[in-house]
Amino acid sequence: MKNSLRAPFAFLCVAVLCAACAAPSQKRGRADYSAAKGESPVVSAPQTPEEKQPDPPSQDPSAKKLPADKTGRILITEKQKNADIKHSGRVYIYTPDLSKKYKVSAPGTLAVKALGGGKIQLGTLQSTQTIILEPAQGTLLTWNKNVYSGKIFIIPAGNSFHLVEHAPLETYLYGVLPYEMSYTWPLEALKAQAVAARTYTLKSLENVKNQNFDLYSDVRSQMYKGGGKQYDSVKKAVDETRGQVLTFDDNLFYTYYHANCGGGTDDVRSWNPGAASIKPLSGASCKYDSHSKSHSWQMNVSHAKVLAYAKTVGLTGTLKSIKIARKTDTGRATNLTIRTSKGSKTVACGKFRLATGIRSCKINKVSIRNKDVHFEGKGYGHGVGMCQDGANGMAKSGKDYRKILKNYYPGAKIAEIN
Ligand SMILES: [Zn+2]
Repeated sequence: MKNSLRAPFAFLCVAVLCAACAAPSQKRGRADYSAAKGESPVVSAPQTPEEKQPDPPSQDPSAKKLPADKTGRILITEKQKNADIKHSGRVYIYTPDLSKKYKVSAPGTLAVKALGGGKIQLGTLQSTQTIILEPAQGTLLTWNKNVYSGKIFIIPAGNSFHLVEHAPLETYLYGVLPYEMSYTWPLEALKAQAVAARTYTLKSLENVKNQNFDLYSDVRSQMYKGGGKQYDSVKKAVDETRGQVLTFDDNLFYTYYHANCGGGTDDVRSWNPGAASIKPLSGASCKYDSHSKSHSWQMNVSHAKVLAYAKTVGLTGTLKSIKIARKTDTGRATNLTIRTSKGSKTVACGKFRLATGIRSCKINKVSIRNKDVHFEGKGYGHGVGMCQDGANGMAKSGKDYRKILKNYYPGAKIAEIN
């Protein structure tokens, strides 16, 4: 590891010394990245400075125009102190104002370090500004075993830094599908997932709340581990549905999906009481998910875990009972009543599920045992929108992705963007 760090360090030493040389070449109207020892200056930089404006700093309001240009800003990690970013080939390194710009050509590792006080260091380059790593065509960046092909923005944040990738939507989807659905599943199931994930992403981009990024790389948005490692099946599913989204009344909607619905999906309000119910999210039948282990389950949760959650809603004491207070027509609990020696509380089952790890709220049976609470139920996840096991089952029985989407998002249309 140490050896691999040495090369870019040495290079950046040269680069920093050469930084002042950038001015003359700027007069020629070309971007110039200071060259490493023995390398020619980049006279054929990817684009001219006019074209090659680095992405605007996060405070720039134009950063909000993401749905139009279909580039997403994905938070790879936050509050890092150190990061080793490997690059398989040439990478351009610059600050948003282009006051510092370098390139590294040989494969290696770039060591990023937080210096504190909003300052970061990459090699010998120190900056209070964001540092952008732009891989050349064909170069991949690897961090934490995840492989990225988009630009990585290293954003200083007090005593740490964030890594945010700017990636085109379709590349982003290459890095979502294998982690939201197995790449080994039938193509038509993967295509249904591609359309659902694309729609969900674009809908999310309508409501960006964070200054520096649009999407998380975990379940808060969708699982994403970089679009640089591409599975053939996933690439085919994304490419063959390129630009296709689901709409209802000509609007995008949150195309929720989950692992297994246990024989039928539910209205979005069963899980999120504040959500507007629309026909595509009002529930659907599912006859194709019983092959999965998630279809029917039993599990035990310790008293301690239940009581830890009870404490967060202000209920203490020893556990006496858990009862389903309300459920939907399909048998999904919306509310549970927890009773202890000190009193009782009725809570949303969705929150209870996330806190205790029970697979779903489609609970058939709850019984208090000595140390555990025994649950029996069906399905895995919130049960709204597309059932992934059901999509898999439908594809295996010969249904195409349009039929799959029509089943799980009734009344929705497949529309083309662009
Ligand atoms: Zn299902």
